Amino acid sequence: MTNQMFCFQCEQTAGCTACTGMAGVCGKKAYTANLQDKLTGALIGLARAVEGNEEKVTESTDRVVLEGLFSTVTNVNFNDEILEELIRRVREEKEKLIPRCGECASPCGRNDDYDMQDIWTEDEDIRSLKSLVLFGIRGVAAYAYHAAVLGFKDDEINRFFYKTLLMLGVDGYEKDPLLSLAMEVGEINLKCMELLDRANTETYGNPVPTTVSLKVEKGPFIVITGHDLLDLKLLLEQTEGKGINIYTHGEMLPAHAYPELKKYSHLKGNFGTAWQNQQKEFAGISAPILFTTNCLMPPKESYADRVFTTEVVSYPEMIHIGEEKDFTPIIEKALELGGYEIDMQFTGINGGTEMMTGFGHHAVLSVADKVIDAVKAGQIRHFFLVAGCDGARPGRNYYTELVKQTPDDTVVLTLACGKYRFNDLNLGTIG
Ligand code: SF4
Repeated sequence: MTNQMFCFQCEQTAGCTACTGMAGVCGKKAYTANLQDKLTGALIGLARAVEGNEEKVTESTDRVVLEGLFSTVTNVNFNDEILEELIRRVREEKEKLIPRCGECASPCGRNDDYDMQDIWTEDEDIRSLKSLVLFGIRGVAAYAYHAAVLGFKDDEINRFFYKTLLMLGVDGYEKDPLLSLAMEVGEINLKCMELLDRANTETYGNPVPTTVSLKVEKGPFIVITGHDLLDLKLLLEQTEGKGINIYTHGEMLPAHAYPELKKYSHLKGNFGTAWQNQQKEFAGISAPILFTTNCLMPPKESYADRVFTTEVVSYPEMIHIGEEKDFTPIIEKALELGGYEIDMQFTGINGGTEMMTGFGHHAVLSVADKVIDAVKAGQIRHFFLVAGCDGARPGRNYYTELVKQTPDDTVVLTLACGKYRFNDLNLGTIG
């Protein structure tokens, strides 16, 4: 493989066009980017082998598709060895579907892996549509993966991955079928979010509005980041009674609102702000950090010895916690580092000392009548929805500016990590 890459799958992409050359803005090296392409091409090969052999698809076929797609999401997996292992597993699954296909004396090529260069060098519109679809199903796979670890699966969603991968490997499509496919990705994504919502709420209860402190108490602690609530639950169980406190980071913040997680008294609060600030905020931290899902930036030397990964997240030389989920190495690291000697009051980026979370659909709809009454009585004039993963660049503070200017009689709702720009602001209370 060359040491040149092409990747434009996220908003960090160089010059708002594409990361090319030897490394991406996220720190992904060209070799790794090319391996991720190879993995995606192998998944398309697997989907080709599934066509006509649907009855032979097993849980392990579905599992490798989810892992393969999820591993190529931005800031998830930088580990070439793991990616190579995944490619090997994808091909092993293909072999199970069509035994000895690779040994055929007159190969038809029908089940071959796909060369992703064929997409990257396509006509601009086709490349964009296929990319939209590909990046979309990578995100859907991440949700499906999190639901699956809690035992929640959906055949329709799994079948959609094969159908979509198959279409990505067909050259010569016009725009219309790809546009329709992109719309279908959106529909399936909603189904998948519904599935994940069911998995999380049936396992951990319906979230309740909760205030989360940004203070880190003295003594040993562990920071856990990502979306995987099962990892948090297991970590809470394994640290119970050991004098170690647990703090969420990044997208793990909503975990505080789930009754079956918030019942642990050593789940104390939240550390740090948005993912893009981690290299600054983790510098010299006196605690280990467990990455469960994504948003992993290349660790700096000042804290690289305390970064742990699990599930599909991986980075070369960082300790990975395997499927047995024995968090002993992290617990020992927390005890060795000892945490802070005094309570440390950290703040959000606007100086606030706490954040709120837990306004899921159940909580909101349970007070729907009160909200409607407040609207009718003129106590609420507008709702603003701030949705998006705010850019790492300093100038992108329009979310904060908007929210700061919202009048007292308005409600601000948030999605994704753009909220870290302002969720430590005290916006007051209505009713
Ligand atoms: Fe660039 Fe990394 Fe984003 Fe790809 S994932 S566009 S390499 S920053």
